Amino acid sequence: MKLKLGRNKESGPELDRKSNHRIQDVVSIAKNEVNNLHFWLIAIVVAALLISISIASIYFYIHKNTNQIYHVYFGEEKVGTVVDQQKIKDLIADTQDKLNQQNPDFEVKLNDEQFSFKRESGYKLESNDEEALAQVSRRLESHIVGIELVVNGEIIAIVKDEETAQQILDKIKNKYVPEERVEGEAAILSDDAKSADETKQESTLKEVNFNEEVELKQVETQPEEIAKPESVVTSLETGDVVLDKYIVEEGDCITCIAQKLDIPSYVIYENNQLSEDSILNIGDELNVTVLKPTLSVETIEEVVEERDIHFDTEYIVDDTLKLGKNEVITPGKPGRIEVVYEVVKLDGRVQEERKKVISETILLEPVTKVVKKGSKVVPGEGTGNFRWPLVSPSITSYYGYRWGSLHAALDMVSGNRKILASDTGKVIYAGYSGSYGNNIIIDHQNGYKTLYAHLQSIHVSVGMNVERGEQIGVMGSTGNSTGPHLHFEIIKNGVQQNPLVYLN
Ligand SMILES: [Zn+2]
Repeated sequence: MKLKLGRNKESGPELDRKSNHRIQDVVSIAKNEVNNLHFWLIAIVVAALLISISIASIYFYIHKNTNQIYHVYFGEEKVGTVVDQQKIKDLIADTQDKLNQQNPDFEVKLNDEQFSFKRESGYKLESNDEEALAQVSRRLESHIVGIELVVNGEIIAIVKDEETAQQILDKIKNKYVPEERVEGEAAILSDDAKSADETKQESTLKEVNFNEEVELKQVETQPEEIAKPESVVTSLETGDVVLDKYIVEEGDCITCIAQKLDIPSYVIYENNQLSEDSILNIGDELNVTVLKPTLSVETIEEVVEERDIHFDTEYIVDDTLKLGKNEVITPGKPGRIEVVYEVVKLDGRVQEERKKVISETILLEPVTKVVKKGSKVVPGEGTGNFRWPLVSPSITSYYGYRWGSLHAALDMVSGNRKILASDTGKVIYAGYSGSYGNNIIIDHQNGYKTLYAHLQSIHVSVGMNVERGEQIGVMGSTGNSTGPHLHFEIIKNGVQQNPLVYLN
């Protein structure tokens, strides 16, 4: 439709009126067309709605009649169909509960792992819960299970359950773990009070392990196969050895018995609660059983030990100081060291060969003692250290009062008649004088003199220097003497001393 509304110069007002009519016509035609369009649109929408409703109804109907069921299988065999698989699961759980109540001492296991479900969804699928439950019930079987305790591949026992097995193992382990200590936790095991040598020890438990390989396995069993926990513990601890006795015989000692039986002596001590001081009586019965624990416990401890370091002594030779004399220049002082070592114990006994030093820290350096050592030798000067003037002497008369007068000497005899200088010195008398008979006096030039009387013969002369231990004469019975013996005096600054104080 083309509307020409433009003004034409050739047409007058009439022409204008005519064209107005035509415009009105065109407009009304256009209005009709628009009405038609509305009608179709509405029709389509209504139709679509109706179709949708129908589809929904059909869908709803189908859905309402579609169900989901579970096929129950026993192994490969289908034994029923249920709507609710929970019912089967509950049946199994209830059965298990009932079995547990009936068998408080055993662990009863059902063959529930043999049952399985397959889900299916479909149109009006049928199921029968009652029948399925009955079939499952008929196929449920129970058996007793236990935990097999295996040590180094060898079956030791079957116990009720894993908890029991664990308790047994813990009991053995805990024997070597002080109370209230948990594995892995750093704890002080012992804190020795300051001992005589000021050694302090602190021990920390690092690990507790079994020395053997331990496995726990679930096995099917019979009630009579299940062992009592206490007997399992005993068996693991002792190795089920036969008790061995020994009757103490004459001349026995603990180490002797241990050697005789070729067993460690600690076995005898431990089994019979003996100590080093214990006395064995003939006929005593000793338990000499060597246990062979199936399970041994290895504990690893870290021991921190603090102890003294002994100081060294350094000698400086000094020729201005007399030989035999020492002078301390610097007093020594012990140091202090901290040693950390790892101690492995097997069933509580230290494995010395496995002791390892981890670290050594010097807390205090020791101070070396410095001593001046004299080397000056003066001829004929005594050492100050007296020796016996006879070899293997027997004393016949001591220093002391005899019949009212002082015997200020020591009398002695020996099968060896040699008279020896008691110390180095210078002979100041050698001759015969009154009751002394043949006698020698040695001046040790340190304030001391020694006198040797009743000699058979004299081997030295006045003015000679004699060495300590050198022969100076022969024992005899000259002078006032009733038989061969030596009368020996030690004189300090002119006063006779008790020689026994100087001889040893
Ligand atoms: Zn005498």
